[in-house]
Amino acid sequence: MERRKLVIVGSGPAAYTAAIYAARANLAPLVYEGFFAGPAGGQLMTTTEVENYPGFPEGVTGPALMDKMRKQAEKFGTTILTEDVVGVDFNVRPFIVKGSPTCVTADAVIIATGATAKRLDVPGAGDGEFWQKGVTACAVCDGAAPIFRNKDLYVFGGGDTAVEEAVFLTKYGRKVFLVHRRGELRASKIMSERALKHPKIEVVWNHVLAKVEGDTVVTGVVLKDVNTGKESAHSAGGVFFAIGHTPNTAFLNGQVQLHPNGYIKVVAGTSYTNVEGVFAAGDVQDHVYRQAVSAAGSGCMAALDAERWLSEKGHLPT
Ligand SMILES: Cc1cc2nc3c(=O)[nH]c(=O)nc-3n(C[C@H](O)[C@H](O)[C@H](O)COP(=O)(O)OP(=O)(O)OC[C@H]3O[C@@H](n4cnc5c(N)ncnc54)[C@H](O)[C@@H]3O)c2cc1C
Repeated sequence: MERRKLVIVGSGPAAYTAAIYAARANLAPLVYEGFFAGPAGGQLMTTTEVENYPGFPEGVTGPALMDKMRKQAEKFGTTILTEDVVGVDFNVRPFIVKGSPTCVTADAVIIATGATAKRLDVPGAGDGEFWQKGVTACAVCDGAAPIFRNKDLYVFGGGDTAVEEAVFLTKYGRKVFLVHRRGELRASKIMSERALKHPKIEVVWNHVLAKVEGDTVVTGVVLKDVNTGKESAHSAGGVFFAIGHTPNTAFLNGQVQLHPNGYIKVVAGTSYTNVEGVFAAGDVQDHVYRQAVSAAGSGCMAALDAERWLSEKGHLPT
C-alpha cells in the first residue's frame, strides 16, 4: 500500500487551503476530494456569486473560486483523487485511509469534509427549480443579494440559527416571516424574544412550506397549516432554509470524538482532534461561523499543525 505523509479528506476551501500549505511545505499531500459524497469542490459548487471572499471586489462564482483553489493546490504538488473516503482505521500507525477504490496509509490525516445544509424537499425548491434563484440555505451568504431587497422573505426553522438568520435578513427585506411547524420556538429564550419583539419579523406558527412558486426567480410560497391542512399562498422574494446542517463524518465510524451535534471536537484554537495525528478543519468542526473564509483559515491551521506534529514525531527529515 502506498504510504503518504499527509492525506487530506474533503475538497472545500478548508481542504484545498490545507493542501496549498502542506504542498508548499513539501509534504506532497494526497487529497481525496470526494465523488458521491458531495460536489468535489464543496458547498460553493452549488452557489452562484460569492461576494464576501476577500480578493474579489467584483465577486466570483463559487465554482470559479474553487477551481482556482484546486489549481493552486495542484501547482505546488498536491495529488488529487476524485474519490470518496469510505472508511479509516485510526487504531493502527500509519493510519489506513480507504478510498473507493484506492487505499493508502498516512502518517497524518486532515479531515475537511464539510457539512451539508439540510433542505426542505418541496415542489419548487430543488435544483433546476428555484434553488439558488431565491431559495437558499445561507442567509449570511446570500441575504445581501439584490433580488431580496425590500421583498417579503420567508425563513423556515425554529432554532437559534433560524432566529439569527431572520434578524439578519431584516436589514434587507421589507418584512421577514419566520415560519415554524410548532407553536413555540426551539431557540433559546433570549433569541426567541429577539424574534418576537422585532418590528420587522412576524412568526408564523404551526405552518410548513408546501410549495415554492416563481417565474425566473421566487415570487411566492404556499404554506400549509399543520393543524387544519389548509394551504395559503403568499407573495415572497426569498426562501431561506435554517433547519440545520449535517456534518459529513459517517466514514469515521466513531473513531474521532464528536460534539453531541455531530461536529468534530477539536482542541480550542487548534485543529487537533482527540486522535494524535488526526486534524480537522472547516465546517466539519465549525457549527458557528460556517463561511468559506473561516474554512480556508482553519485549513491553513490544520496544515501548520500537521506539519509541526509530523516534524515532532520524526516523520520529516531534519
Ligand atoms: C448555497 C450556499 C451558498 C454559500 N455561499 C457562501 C458565500 O457566499 N460565502 C461564504 O463565505 N460561504 C458561503 N457558503 C458556506 C461555505 O460554502 C462553507 O462554509 C464552506 O464551503 C465550507 O468549506 P469546507 O472546506 O469546510 O467544506 P465544504 O465546502 O462543505 O466541502 C466539503 C466537501 O468534502 C467532500 N467530502 C465529503 N465527504 C467526503 C468523503 N467521505 N470523502 C471525500 N470527500 C468528501 C465533498 O465533496 C464535500 O462537498 C455557502 C453555502 C451554501 C450551501
